[in-house]
Amino acid sequence: MSALDVSSLREDFPILQQMVHGKPLVYLDSAATSQKPESVIQTLDAYYRATNANIHRGIYQLAEQATEQYETARKKAQKFVNAKSWREIVWTRNTTEAINLVAYTYGRANVRAGDEIVISLLEHHSNIVPWQLLAKEKNATLKHIPVDGQGRLALDDLDTLITDKTKIVAVTMMSNVTGAITPLETIIARAHAVGAVVIVDAAQAVPHLPVDVRALDVDFLAFSGHKMLGPFVGVLYGKRALLEAMPPFMGGGDMIRKVELYESTWNELPYKFEAGTPAIAEAIGLGAAIDYLETLGMDNVREHEQELTAYALEKLQEVPTLRLLGPEKIAERGGLAAFELPGIHPHDVAAVLDRDAICIRAGHHCAQPLHAYFDLPATSRASFYVYNTPDEIDTLVTSLQGVRRMFSNG
Ligand code: PMP
Repeated sequence: MSALDVSSLREDFPILQQMVHGKPLVYLDSAATSQKPESVIQTLDAYYRATNANIHRGIYQLAEQATEQYETARKKAQKFVNAKSWREIVWTRNTTEAINLVAYTYGRANVRAGDEIVISLLEHHSNIVPWQLLAKEKNATLKHIPVDGQGRLALDDLDTLITDKTKIVAVTMMSNVTGAITPLETIIARAHAVGAVVIVDAAQAVPHLPVDVRALDVDFLAFSGHKMLGPFVGVLYGKRALLEAMPPFMGGGDMIRKVELYESTWNELPYKFEAGTPAIAEAIGLGAAIDYLETLGMDNVREHEQELTAYALEKLQEVPTLRLLGPEKIAERGGLAAFELPGIHPHDVAAVLDRDAICIRAGHHCAQPLHAYFDLPATSRASFYVYNTPDEIDTLVTSLQGVRRMFSNG
């Protein structure tokens, strides 16, 4: 018995009702982007039909309504991750932009030559490249927390990795390849003990598990609306004192208090970091997605995904030669399964599965250093969300068995 009533919940997702190549769509790529429930689609539709106007500056009813809805959505995001104040929630384009914001502002202001930035081998490119750019610009050193054979962070040498020289620690909360959930408490405690700030890439965590920024005592946390049933908008959480002290990111309208010919002063939080017209409808749509997830209950979402993952890990082993990546213990991983079928390129696997209307992802999943560590150019990945069922996993496994047969017959 699932923690969620999946068969009725699936009816909320119009896209899942369709046939592809004459077969029911099996969507197993939510780690890349999730599908949207009717309530989110309707919120976007209603916004454009009834309240579309630019926010903050308008002195007429529509503009006031748009502003109100936009700011209400911010408060929903604040409560969802348990931030202390709505001023600590900055809308961005996505997780990538949120991490870049911290690198370009906090990073540039606080990292000097000889300082150290610690990331990990599990990171998505969006939590690698901004730190490489910063380290090069500042002549700082980039260090990596290593990974063990199960694709988990290996923390044995944490005290020698994170030292008095460390200014920033940037780690994922859940790997988009191995699914490993990071022991953040240990990392954050060590980072704070040496006076470093911690930025957490929660792109794969906030959609799938309860996340409490205050309980974690994390300094910055980034996530993407599109991976949590919402539209294409991102969120940066930052502790107020840190955000107050940071210089702005981009310059333009809305982020200023006063502009003179040669000098400007900055708006209050969070607007200092929101230059130009933001993704208004998308932010409001994310508010609807948060409402939807809260109705389900994030504990139930997590439980459902753990059940599905346990089932998937067991069933996938029925496919001859298939090798799974990631932690063996379900409690240590999120709702995805990346795997290798030796001798068959993941692109071929995904293309054959597509004929059975199954959507999975194949490639390096924007984690080339991790794939290099595993000595694999690419992997296949099935990822699960609230709307997936054990039957879909059976369909996946049957199709993979077909792939295996097809390629062994030459
Ligand atoms: N970090 C992780 C762990 C991810 O899985 C992703 C998306 N694949 C990102 C960051 C980047 O998210 P976005 O493309 O929405 O910026």
